[in-house]
Amino acid sequence: MNAGRLTLAVQKSGRLAEGGFDLLKQSGVKLAYARDALMRRAENVPLDLMLIRDDDIPSFVASGSCGCGIVGENVLAEAAARSPRVAGLEIVQRLGFAKCTLKLAAPLEGPVQSVADLEGRAIATSYPALTAKFLAERGITAEIVEMGGSVEVAPRMKIADAICDLVSTGATLEANGLAAFETVLESEAVLIANREALNGGGATLELLVERFKGVIASRQTKYILLNAPKDRLDEIRAVLPGADAPTVAPVVGRDDVVAIHAVCTEEVFWSTLEQIKAAGGRSILVLPIEKMMA
Ligand code: ATP
Ligand code: MG
Repeated sequence: MNAGRLTLAVQKSGRLAEGGFDLLKQSGVKLAYARDALMRRAENVPLDLMLIRDDDIPSFVASGSCGCGIVGENVLAEAAARSPRVAGLEIVQRLGFAKCTLKLAAPLEGPVQSVADLEGRAIATSYPALTAKFLAERGITAEIVEMGGSVEVAPRMKIADAICDLVSTGATLEANGLAAFETVLESEAVLIANREALNGGGATLELLVERFKGVIASRQTKYILLNAPKDRLDEIRAVLPGADAPTVAPVVGRDDVVAIHAVCTEEVFWSTLEQIKAAGGRSILVLPIEKMMA
């Protein structure tokens, strides 16, 4: 580790890598070019990236090899259930991408339809510690069959009666004739850090967290411009999602119409625009916000 520089562990390639590199780029972190390197140096921030498999990220951060890391809560929770050192790591910031759910699922119309039905059964999973913890908390004894991947084929192959696996759209479950009956963990990418990074010279970590917060906030925030009849202003304000104090400005040559500018902090759907239009709004524009700082 270079003195004075923060090391951030990021997945080398995969879903977390994609979202992680996007987030760093939008946060203005410029990476020096390097092909197939384990380390990538940032040119404009005292930050180095260590590119590793996502499963290794919690232990690299816990051991101090990296000050912080971007990892899925699912991987973090599994590692924390096995290691007290990982359990002591702090989630500094939730990052809002790589959202998925760890779920229990079993064949449709099979003998397992609920958590209680798992008693004495076999469950295939890549998350043995989390699955064991979940079952222990409910007083259920079941066999856990650890698998590295393709967990969804286990019931068909008679390896297990149920599975505990990550689900995002549910398409994989459906394609394998399985139905989810319980959520074990809701997960998204998170920024984790160890004590040293948090306490000692945390300026780079602080800068990173502030910029990440700004990027995340601007991603879900939109700028809305529209014209509206003056006498329906309250009606329109009521349907603007998460807009505290819109700016209301005069429209040249129109005494009965005003221009409304608002920052909407909640998602703007097509149905929102339809509601605004029904309330008399016209010439409605929705613009992305590139950067934000509170
Ligand atoms: P590695 O080679 O680094 O071990 P991997 O195959 O374990 O990669 P990926 O498939 O890239 O990992 O998934 C990384 C993380 O992305 C998962 O641990 C989870 O947090 C999240 N994730 C997994 N599946 C999905 C999904 N379908 N949608 C969104 N996020 C997901
Ligand atoms: Mg992995």
